[in-house]
Amino acid sequence: MDQVITITMKNLEKNNMKTFFVGTKEEALAKILDSIPENATIGFGGSKTLKQIGVFAALEKKKYELLDWGMANSGEEAAEIRKQSLFADVYLSSSNAVTQDGKLVNMDGTGNRVSAITFGPKKVIIVAGKNKIVENEERAVERIRNVAAPATAKHFGKKTPCVITGKCMDCSSTDRICCTKVVHSWQKMPGRINVILVAENLGY
Ligand code: SF4
Repeated sequence: MDQVITITMKNLEKNNMKTFFVGTKEEALAKILDSIPENATIGFGGSKTLKQIGVFAALEKKKYELLDWGMANSGEEAAEIRKQSLFADVYLSSSNAVTQDGKLVNMDGTGNRVSAITFGPKKVIIVAGKNKIVENEERAVERIRNVAAPATAKHFGKKTPCVITGKCMDCSSTDRICCTKVVHSWQKMPGRINVILVAENLGY
């Protein structure tokens, strides 16, 4: 395991988050499936990483109740599923950035993901590729504004200036996707947040 991952895991553990290291996305999927109890209700944060891992297809084959707002037929239904996800047994997501000093840094447009990671679901499982690891909170915000958010905005066909420039222009667009920044540092409930770090690049 490389030193950066070792240090990151040590500091996440110091902040009461449980950590796991896997080499590949296939191993990440196996770890996720292994960590979810039978008949659990599962909520999701929007995540390219989860899609790349193949989480949705794998979970559909099991006895889980999936609260997948991505399958909603309307904006109202998606909003309702996002709310229900706050009561899920397990919440699956990635993180925009994971800092070497043991923090998860995320910026949301709607706020459902940062809310659920913070409070509600009994267990949170975060999966992050090694590309998400940065030195500290400042670097995390840079990463979000100049890497993650422009790529995500482009993927969803948003009309934000970063889609054109490739970097944050601190916009006031109605399509803005980074509106609420939340930093998860020391956790009151030890082991509620589980972080699976993968030795591959995943997501934006
Ligand atoms: S604030 Fe606007 S321009 Fe900056 S990254 Fe977010 S969506 Fe893009």
